[in-house]
Amino acid sequence: MTTSNDIALVTGASAGIGAVYADRLAKRGYDLVLVARDVGRMAALGERLRDETGVAINVISADLTLDGDVAKIEQRLGVGDITLLVNNAGMSLRGGILENGAPDLSRIIALNVTAPTRLASAAVKAFVAKGAGAIINLSSVLALAPEMFEGVYSGTKAYLLNLSQAMAAQLKDKGVYIQAVLPGATRTDLWEKAGRDVNSFPEGFLMEVGDMVDAALVGFDRRETVTIPPLADEGQFQVMQQARLAMAPNLSKSEVPPRYRKQAVI
Ligand code: NAP
Repeated sequence: MTTSNDIALVTGASAGIGAVYADRLAKRGYDLVLVARDVGRMAALGERLRDETGVAINVISADLTLDGDVAKIEQRLGVGDITLLVNNAGMSLRGGILENGAPDLSRIIALNVTAPTRLASAAVKAFVAKGAGAIINLSSVLALAPEMFEGVYSGTKAYLLNLSQAMAAQLKDKGVYIQAVLPGATRTDLWEKAGRDVNSFPEGFLMEVGDMVDAALVGFDRRETVTIPPLADEGQFQVMQQARLAMAPNLSKSEVPPRYRKQAVI
């Protein structure tokens, strides 16, 4: 296959959703920069994709919880040849706010919040300078349903949704496209790493990873800002969006509304 001039940098490309993005993007003709800690798995994936598609593959080892490693990827994005950033690397936790201490809480925030923010910022500066580029941020349906989970992981994913929507609004006239992808439960190793057995999930709850990424790429091709692969009725999301946007003009006022005024003592 001949390659385009597109180069995608995919974080968390050694496994799960990131490895499938790498596969699908290579088959679309993107050259790839694969980023994660497990160089062996990325090298094997890269070799297969090079053989199958002829695209160029580079592998960068980085632990995105470490400041210096994030800086290395920022520098790579700063070169200016990347056309698509897939901000995918992420983790969940065993337990939530009650069960975890500072090291694990800091690690999940570093990986799920700090790293994608810094990489999005580095990418977007290069994209705006060129007037073109795209970012896919892997959020989660839990951004919309915090009551379904433990709060810390879902909070990091709500942050990414918020960041994506704000960036999309700011950048829509600058030739830069931002997509937030909100998968539901998807069959990857993420669950086992967080101590959960996907086989115990209810029937019909879990999406296969290839199906999820293919659906998300349909949303990408449609230039959706928010893509929710498992949601059959997109009207449900649109109703929520309309209600939120209708409320927005009422959210900053000089006057305290009557329901929050102190009752006069008679
Ligand atoms: P996964 O199978 O556990 O893969 C996670 C990827 O992130 C791996 O490539 C891993 O590579 C990389 N990674 C983990 N820690 C890293 C670190 N410190 N530095 C650099 N890379 C690191 O998880 P997944 O299910 O594919 O998840 C991908 C994204 O989708 C995550 O952001 C996740 O929150 C989101 N998501 C997943 C689901 C789901 O049900 N699976 C649902 C909604 C959203 P190394 O170990 O080689 O570093």
